Amino acid sequence: MTAASIATAAYIVAALLFILSLHGLSKHETARGGVTYGIAGMTIALLATAWLTAEGAWGDPQASLGLVLLVVAVVVGGTIGLWRARVVEMTGMPELIALLHSFVGLAAVLVGWNGALYDTGLTGALADIHHAEVFIGVFIGAVTFTGSIVAFLKLSARMSSKPLMLPGKNALNIGALVAFVVLTVWYVITPELWLLVVVTVLALALGWHLVASIGGGDMPVVVSMLNSYSGWAAAAAGFLLNNDLLIITGALVGSSGAYLSYIMCKAMNRSFISVIAGGFGIEAPRSSDEQVGEHREIDAAGVAELLSAASRVVITPGYGMAVAQAQYPVAELASRLRERGVDVQFGIHPVAGRLPGHMNVLLAEAKVPYDIVLEMDEVNDDFADTSVVLVIGANDTVNPSAAEDPTSPIAGMPVLRVWDAENVVVFKRSMASGYAGVQNPLFFRENAAMLFGDAKERVEDILRAL
Ligand code: NDP
Repeated sequence: MTAASIATAAYIVAALLFILSLHGLSKHETARGGVTYGIAGMTIALLATAWLTAEGAWGDPQASLGLVLLVVAVVVGGTIGLWRARVVEMTGMPELIALLHSFVGLAAVLVGWNGALYDTGLTGALADIHHAEVFIGVFIGAVTFTGSIVAFLKLSARMSSKPLMLPGKNALNIGALVAFVVLTVWYVITPELWLLVVVTVLALALGWHLVASIGGGDMPVVVSMLNSYSGWAAAAAGFLLNNDLLIITGALVGSSGAYLSYIMCKAMNRSFISVIAGGFGIEAPRSSDEQVGEHREIDAAGVAELLSAASRVVITPGYGMAVAQAQYPVAELASRLRERGVDVQFGIHPVAGRLPGHMNVLLAEAKVPYDIVLEMDEVNDDFADTSVVLVIGANDTVNPSAAEDPTSPIAGMPVLRVWDAENVVVFKRSMASGYAGVQNPLFFRENAAMLFGDAKERVEDILRAL
């Protein structure tokens, strides 16, 4: 059996492991197994690739250089990756993921350029296909690269989360896409390098503009959309490198990311096309972070009293719980209340936090039983029968203006209807708005009270008072 056929067999096994991994990751209970499958698949893929390169390098000085470069790249990249993965805070995960997507985009651009500069010796229709692959790969890769960098900057608050509203932004996006199609045809007919330079610059600008035009509230969809783009960029690189595993893996990431974006758009009542087209058709929102009334404050002892008299409590966590790392005291509070016979549930909004499933991960980490962690639709109708809702570091996901104010930038997004409950306690440090930059009328309702301070410290105060 040749090295190539063993590598092909290893690639098939790795591809199957990736499919099992995706399947495992779709449920809490099987997520750990899903990660293990993914690690096993990636290890097999890396070993097979390294072995193929080593085999080819035997006695060939140029290929030996390739092997040395491969080892150096894996050692340097692996060391940086391990270090980042160990030190990253849970709250820093979304921006790290956005940054990692940008690397996939950059890699696809480099592979595309390499494919253009390297003489393949292909002629006729095969050469045309190769040129189209180069051009499309560079385009998708460059859009992913700058788009992911803007997402990284927005998620890490280095750039405002407000949407960029250039005049004629829709015409700019459509113009860029039309230019891409024309340039692709041109490049296939006459593959001149300057055309590749033009499409690279065009795609870099388009990626930047697409993501900069998206407002904070729609960022979840952008993150999963860039995840999808990075998959397609990897698949395009796979075609150029003639690597089946890269094609399969890229297609898996591309299609699962696209499906996730679609699910999130449905959950947020957004048009999929509008979001992937960089906020296409969305008008500039009016500025709405001014306060709209008087708020009431409560202290930890007051909340403990409310909870002592409660029969049913729902906890709706948000990004602030992740920032405060409050999941452990929150889990303890839930378990103490349950011991006292209180019916306790968690209501999780699909875009709470900064990553799909962010809250579920934190609660699982704090060992909250899965059966009391419910999705938004499962709790929304029961708020009216709830004595106390604890809104822990959530803001946009419990904002009534999404349901009641058609001019709000988050209008139409389904939210947790916490205001239907008898009492609502909002844990946050100030009256600042949430990620979408919109003021929250919930804070000024009669049945709502603010508990100011770091969510972890305040929950610990309540535990003491209880
Ligand atoms: P928000 O981002 O709307 O609000 C979080 C609140 O937490 C803030 O108002 C902040 O108020 C408070 N907070 C921050 N730190 C602390 C702390 N240490 N203690 C107590 N409170 C704190 O959160 P939501 O989860 O409700 O909404 C998520 C938002 O993020 C949505 O707009 C969503 O679209 C967007 N998004 C979601 C992504 C996803 O995939 N889930 C990805 C990208 C964006 P204060 O400063 O006053 O304390």
